[in-house]
This record gives sequence, structure tokens and C-alpha cells, in this order.
Amino acid sequence: MAKDYYRTLGVEKTASQDEIKKAFRQLARKYHPDANPENKAQAEEKFKEISEAYEVLSDENKRRMYDQTGSVDFGSGRSDFTWQDFSHQGDFSDLRDIFDRIFGGGSGFGGGNESFFGGFGNNEPNLDLITEVKITLRDAFEGNSTTVKYRRNAPCETCKGTGAEEGKLKRCPTCNGTGQQRVVQGQGFFRMVSVTTCKTCNGRGVIPVTPCKVCKGTGSIPTTENLEIKIPRGVVNNLRLRVRGKGQSYNGKTGDMFVQLVILDDPLVKRINDDLEVTQEITFPEAALGGDKTIEVFGRQHSIKIPAGTQPGDVIKIKGAGMPHLNAKGSGDLLVVIKVVVPKHLNSKQKELISALMEEGEKKHSWLRI
Ligand SMILES: [Zn+2]
Ligand SMILES: [Zn+2]
Repeated sequence: MAKDYYRTLGVEKTASQDEIKKAFRQLARKYHPDANPENKAQAEEKFKEISEAYEVLSDENKRRMYDQTGSVDFGSGRSDFTWQDFSHQGDFSDLRDIFDRIFGGGSGFGGGNESFFGGFGNNEPNLDLITEVKITLRDAFEGNSTTVKYRRNAPCETCKGTGAEEGKLKRCPTCNGTGQQRVVQGQGFFRMVSVTTCKTCNGRGVIPVTPCKVCKGTGSIPTTENLEIKIPRGVVNNLRLRVRGKGQSYNGKTGDMFVQLVILDDPLVKRINDDLEVTQEITFPEAALGGDKTIEVFGRQHSIKIPAGTQPGDVIKIKGAGMPHLNAKGSGDLLVVIKVVVPKHLNSKQKELISALMEEGEKKHSWLRI
């Protein structure tokens, strides 16, 4: 038997579906790449192995075939597992972060690529990275900069990512330059020939004549990046910025970094599309008599005119003082919602005046009656 899926998950041959699921969940946490920053590559491999085992043993049909033949058909006679064969990414809400990374999380890229963090690929490995950055609404308004710090395998500068001294490469002797290896699995009737990526050259078809001394022939060097991101003015929530060439480097190729900008709610300023809304408190006499006010939004002063007879909830619009339109000229408006504050404590003089006001109002059937 080429692979022992039961052993991979550490369960008995008679294990129930619940036991299999539990074992997978425990191991998935153990081999989560984030939990193994020192040994990310091995953790990835292990994670893939347990995912393969789970894919087979959690499916009664596949499990039976495996029990009988020691091999599994992942479709079209293929016995080598790829991430495209994994069908349980939606079953583990607690492992969503990692499956999102592997499968792209509906992000429109990634999409079931062979590896995450640029590992080992049968097909094109996904070398793109994604990170989330929290910014303030003011950052979005002003178009500030932010720094993203992360680890990646950056291309080795000495060999320009080729892994070879002076960039000199030769044909891979194992696969004779094809980048592929034929593997025979199973016996007799179930004998299957599958084509996998050449392990010597990782599918490149070439290997270094002399491995680069700086990166030991890998072509990449683990690096901490401090990426400066310019936030576009008027950016919308969850926008992804692509930074070319700042993803993982592997096999002489380098992916991109996607920075997803998450805008935090502001305690004072509400965004409605490109309009900004603030609340301005005014006193009862100000509402009745009108007056001028200065309000400050994100460090900018605006003077507003309160008309006489302003009602609570009235909105004063300042045209063009809202959020800048993203990638377009102009800005939304600033909406000032008026809140009339009724005093809770009055001294006797104030009480007297308001009583007099009320009597005057009753006489004339004026505004106090509405
Ligand atoms: Zn090869
Ligand atoms: Zn190098």
C-alpha cells in the first residue's frame, strides 16, 4: 500500500466518520502553517497529506475503493491528489482562514491552486499573497500611507531568483528536461500510471549548474518586508490593492501581494457612499434664532449657517466637502444633522425667562404650539 491514510490521520481502520473528522480537525490545527512559522514548508506538506487522507476516508465510496485496492481514483484515473480534489473546505468553519488561503476565499484569484505560500506544485503554484490592513475613515479621506509588515520568500538578489551561480542552468537529468515524472501505482488490474511533477527540478526542467551559495540553490530568501502602501483617496471598504512582485518567489517566478484595505468605523463620522454625515449639537436658542457655527471634520473647518427656526433632525448640506470620489474628480457632500439639546438643569432666572417665553407663545399661537 503506497499510502496509509489511516496512519496519516492516526485512526483505526474501523474508525467512524466522527472519529475521522475529529482527527483531521486536530491535525489541521497542528499543521496550520501559522502555527509552524519555523517549518512552514513541512507544515504545508503535512497539511496537504492529512487533507488527502480526509478526502478519501470521509467519503464511503472512496474509502471502500482504497480499502480494497490501496489506491484511489480522483477522477480520470488520477491517483495523485491535488487541492482541486479537496471538497470539504466549507465543512470546517474554524479552519476557514487556511482554506480561504488555499482556495482563494472567493477572492477571484488563488482558486484551488496547488499550494499556498508558494510551495510545491503540480500545476502553477499560487505565489500570490494576501493580507488585510485596517485603516481609519480619515486615512481613506486623506489618502494616507500605511506600512504592511510580513514575511515572504523574496527572490535571491545574487542569482536573480534562478538558484544558480551566475544564472547558469542545465537540463534536469531526472526528467530529461520535461519537468514531469511517470509514477506507477497499484498492482494488476488496478495498476495506474500517473504523471507528476519532477521532484529534482520541481517541474522547471532545468537545475543549477552550481547552486547559488547565498540561497543554497533555492532562488529565494526568507525576508521580512516593510511594504509602504499609499491609500487611494476615497477608497471603498475591502478594496484590494495589487503590489506586483511582492508575493512569494519560487522556481524563478514571483507572485504579487494583495493588500485588502478594511476601513474601520469612525465614532463621529458616518460614511454613506461618498457622503459623510456628522451630528452637530446646538442649543434651543440657537435653533430658534439661528446663527453661525464652525464644525471640524478630519481636521478641516467648515462654517455653517443655522437658519432661524431650525428643527431637530434638519440636515445642512455642505456640497463637495465629503469623501473624495475614488479615481474620479470631485467629492461627495458633508451632511450636518442638527441635534437640538434641551437643557436638563435650569437656574431660577432661566426658568423665569422660559416661562415668560411660553406665556408669550400661548398668547400669539406661535411656534411653541406647532
Ligand atoms: Zn526534472
Ligand atoms: Zn541565490
